[in-house]
Order: sequence, then structure tokens, then C-alpha cells
Amino acid sequence: MANIFLSSAHNTYGQDKPYTSLNTPELNDIITYINEESLDELLGFLNAFTPISTAELDNIEVKLTTVYAEGLELQVQTKNTESPSTNAQNHPEQRQTFFIAFPAAITHPDELQIQYIALKQKADKKLGKKTIKLTKQVFDVQDSYRVSKNMLRLELNMPTLNNTNGTSNPTSVPINEAGYAYLFDLEHNALIKDTTADNIDDSKNTSRLARSHCYYTLRKAWQTPAGIQAWVDVFLHGNTPGGNWANSLQAGDTVVTKREFPEKIEHLRDGQALLIADETSMPTVARLLELWENPTPPLVVSVTQNAADQRYFDTVKIRSGIDIGSINNRIDSNSERTIKNTVKDNFTVLPIVTDQQCSGQHLASLIDNTIGNYLIDQPIKIDKVWGALEASTVKALRPMLRERLDLSRAEVVIKVYWRQD
Ligand SMILES: Cc1cc2nc3c(=O)[nH]c(=O)nc-3n(C[C@H](O)[C@H](O)[C@H](O)COP(=O)(O)OP(=O)(O)OC[C@H]3O[C@@H](n4cnc5c(N)ncnc54)[C@H](O)[C@@H]3O)c2cc1C
Repeated sequence: MANIFLSSAHNTYGQDKPYTSLNTPELNDIITYINEESLDELLGFLNAFTPISTAELDNIEVKLTTVYAEGLELQVQTKNTESPSTNAQNHPEQRQTFFIAFPAAITHPDELQIQYIALKQKADKKLGKKTIKLTKQVFDVQDSYRVSKNMLRLELNMPTLNNTNGTSNPTSVPINEAGYAYLFDLEHNALIKDTTADNIDDSKNTSRLARSHCYYTLRKAWQTPAGIQAWVDVFLHGNTPGGNWANSLQAGDTVVTKREFPEKIEHLRDGQALLIADETSMPTVARLLELWENPTPPLVVSVTQNAADQRYFDTVKIRSGIDIGSINNRIDSNSERTIKNTVKDNFTVLPIVTDQQCSGQHLASLIDNTIGNYLIDQPIKIDKVWGALEASTVKALRPMLRERLDLSRAEVVIKVYWRQD
């Protein structure tokens, strides 16, 4: 991957290497979206394709400024307490612009997503990280039922395919990974329903769907003789495309996924962790708890609009998805001494019930204050954070928690799982 360092003063390109502007009306929205939701990915590109080191990443601000047919232009600024304008005047050398080339130049704006994903795959591979996959998977729906007031569980099955030689095809559904997400193709079911109803009215075709895809997490998956069984928990928050899709599914239907990606949770392996869930990320946190190998149980903040949905965690047992003996053995051999029952079997939930739809600065302050109040009485130091919430809440909460808990960017991972209109 060639990195072309661009002059920070002029922000222009070398005569010998002109880049092609993209003429698409959505480009500004795409750039805003990437800057708000994909900061980690931009940092990953810098880490993989520029001389900026992992340690330096914590001390810079990165912004996607332009997308060209050939790649991305990233502006990097060293963090400073001065305002950006004063900073630029006083320290112009602290701003740098990097060009990160796509694996192949795009010829049509529709290819932007493909090249962006290809770039992410390449960066993750270089950094030795698990990455996004563009794989089509088909599951059979077996059942659906509520597991809390508004959380609908889909029970899915992926049959083991037998080859002609009698061996079975291993499926690629991850059984021991928390937060593994699938992009479900909502149009697949709308199409089938239209076809089976012999609906030939063009005005009712699937283009009417306000949303054709939706991310949902693999709540849990396990191997059975008949194939992989899986749960996907969909929070129903009114009349929305994702909720309507999940509600309409019946035993015998198929569901199709088109993309899948792992969650960023490696930092939770040790230290005192804080997990922050809202209704959409409760499935991820539940699975994190079941697969919790860190000897210290986490503190969990659970935000719901309705008090009844707090019951979602009632049936979740920490470490129930792993062999505790093996963890104690690992801890024993690491510390070279015998520790019996090192692993404690509890976790604390701090419930926050908002009673009405609540997001942004207000919810961020509510979460921050709840944690602050808890820490007044509890002698613990939070070392790591993972959470997933609404976009504006995430934006407000990240700096609050980093400041309150005195943590680095890498220690505070708070993802955007949905966006308030
Ligand atoms: C990696 C990842 C994993 C996810 N895993 C899960 C999961 O396991 N289970 C799950 O339920 N969701 C999960 N989500 C979130 C889910 O994809 C979003 O909530 C999605 O927006 C739902 O689509 P929708 O069609 O229901 O509503 P949208 O089309 O997004 O929104 C329609 C309307 O509903 C409002 N709205 C959307 N979401 C909410 C909400 N949560 N609460 C209140 N109002 C809302 C919007 O503001 C809008 O007005 C995940 C998201 C990501 C990125």
C-alpha cells in the first residue's frame, strides 16, 4: 500500500499523481457517517498503512476529509488543548494529510462500499485482526417468542450439509464469539412474501422497504447433530422495518445474511471492565457475560426505556458458556501457584430506566452520573469499557467516560448500534 504524504499547508496533490473527484450527491453524508461511526476503522487504516505507531494513535484526532476514486484522504491532527484554529496557526506542522489507496480504484460511486470494505479487510489482515466478511448465509427459522417485554428471540437453524462423499460441511457460524453481528437481508423475506402471495402489483414491490438490511447480533450459537442452532434477539421499538421483519417471521421461513463482522472486545480480557448496554446491545453483553474469561467480573450498565426489559439479564449466567476449570488452570499456570475458585460467579447490573425515549447528551450524562455515583461507594478502578448505544449518545459519552475514568481511547470502546432520526 503506497502512502502519499500530502502537503499540509496547501492540501494539494503532486502533479504526477492527480486523484479523481467523486461526483455523488451523497458523498458529504457518507463522509459525515464515517467520521461519526467509523473512527476505529480510520485509526486502523493509519496504523496499517502509515508510519503512525499504535502508541501515537491515542494522541491524534483523525478525520476523513475527502473520498477520491483512488482512495481516502485522512487529516491527522495531534491532540492539543488549544482550539483547532489557534493550534493550526501556532503549530501548522501538527496537521498532516495522508492518502490511503483503495485496493482498486472505483469506477462508479456504488463501488465505494466494496472498496472501503476491501480496504478494511486489508488493514485488519496487516494488523492481525479478525475482519468483516462478505458471505451469504441462510438460516431456517424454527421459532420466535418474547424473552422480555419487547425483546423477540428468533430461534434459527443452519443444517449441516452432507457432501456426496458422506462427510459433513463445517459451517462458519462462530460458537464462542460474543457480539458477532450479521447483516440480515430484509428484502429476501419481503420478496418471498410478495411472490407467494402472487402479488403482481408493481406498486407493492420490495423497493417500498424503508430499510433493506439490518444488523443483528448472534446472541448465542451451538452445535447440534442437526446443525448449528442460533438465537438472534431483536428489540421491538414500534413500527420499524427491522421489527416488522422479525415479527413477521414464521417457523419454516428462511432468513439470509449478507455480511458479518466480529465485535471489538479483545481489550476486555483483563482488568475491571465496565459494559454499557441499551436495548439493542443487551444481546452482545449477555453473550459477553456467558463467555467471560477475565477473572474479574464486569460491572454492567443496562439502559432501557421500559423497566420490564431489565429482566432480560435475569436468566443470564456469567461464564455459563465456558469451562471454568480451564480458566482456573490457565490462571494457575500463569501465576505458577495454586489458586482455588479464583473465578467469581457474579456481576453487578446498574439499571437505568428512562421511561421515555432518551438519547444524546441527556442520556450520556445519566449514564456518566450513574457510574460516578456507584464509584463513590465502591473501591474499584474501571480499566476497560465496552458499550454500544445510539449515535449521538456515543458521541457525548466517549469523552465523558475517558475523562471520568482516566482511560485511553483504546480502553474505551463504545460503538454506534443505531441512530435516532
Ligand atoms: C453491529 C450491530 C449489532 C446489532 N445487534 C442488534 C441486536 O442484536 N438486536 C437489536 O435489537 N438491535 C441490534 N442492532 C441495532 C439495530 O441494527 C438497529 O436498532 C436498527 O436501527 C433497527 O432497525 P429498525 O428498522 O428496527 O429501525 P430504524 O429503521 O433504524 O429506525 C426507525 C425508527 O425507530 C427509531 N429507533 C431505531 N432504533 C431504536 C431503538 N433501539 N430504540 C428506540 N428507537 C429506535 C429510529 O430513531 C427511527 O425513528 C445492532 C446494530 C449493530 C450496528
